[in-house]
Amino acid sequence: MMVSNGDSLKTYLTIDQVKELFLYMGQRVIESKPLLTSIDSAIGDGDHGIGMEVGFKKAAEILQNNNLTTVNSIFLETGKAMISNMGGASGILFGTLFVASVKDKPIIHKLNLELLASFIQSGLEGVKARGKAELGDKTMIDALEPAVKALHQALEENEDLINALKKASEKAQDGMENTKNLIAKFGRAKSLGERAIGHQDAGATTISIMFEAIYTFVNELQNKGELQYE
Ligand code: ADP
Ligand code: MG
Repeated sequence: MMVSNGDSLKTYLTIDQVKELFLYMGQRVIESKPLLTSIDSAIGDGDHGIGMEVGFKKAAEILQNNNLTTVNSIFLETGKAMISNMGGASGILFGTLFVASVKDKPIIHKLNLELLASFIQSGLEGVKARGKAELGDKTMIDALEPAVKALHQALEENEDLINALKKASEKAQDGMENTKNLIAKFGRAKSLGERAIGHQDAGATTISIMFEAIYTFVNELQNKGELQYE
């Protein structure tokens, strides 16, 4: 079935597809461990890839061994697994991203663009409230905030889900690239001052990998004819 403008609200992922999406996203981050380790070694303490692997592995175990029946619980359990198992700044912050996404949200069983944008917006606000970093501080926010904005803009312009996710992924990547030009105001790179320039931020890199994975996964569902429409 063709998706045209105006159909953005009608395309959705089922619970099982959201679960598979989270497993895929985790897998992609885990595969990137060497890259994340080398980035965090340059301007941090080198543990970011290790932490993300621990968090996503634990989350995968929980998703696979429990019959989670709402989209909300998939986000919540992923975030809780990160908070209780990862440690480090990113354990709390990446965990908060997922937990805050679903805080005070209605229970849903399908994930469409509007709900995804609303969830991640709340997740972003949660991370900012918790970590106090803003755009330009050389953190995960520099990839996350532009991606969330892209989702909202796509929604306003009645873009379909695939294009929205493509743009969000591109914006996350641009944001990640841009962290090379920034001085860190938070985290371990803060003490480096100007010496952090030329190096990208580890957390922003993870966010970019996550959005790229979301786009790739949903695009693949579309290509296989498995994307759902109401
Ligand atoms: P740690 O800094 O404890 O070693 P990690 O290496 O796993 O933790 O994660 C570092 C990443 O966490 C940074 O690259 C940055 O993106 C993110 N980060 C650190 N502090 C903050 C903050 N206050 N707000 C948002 N993100 C932050
Ligand atoms: Mg680190």
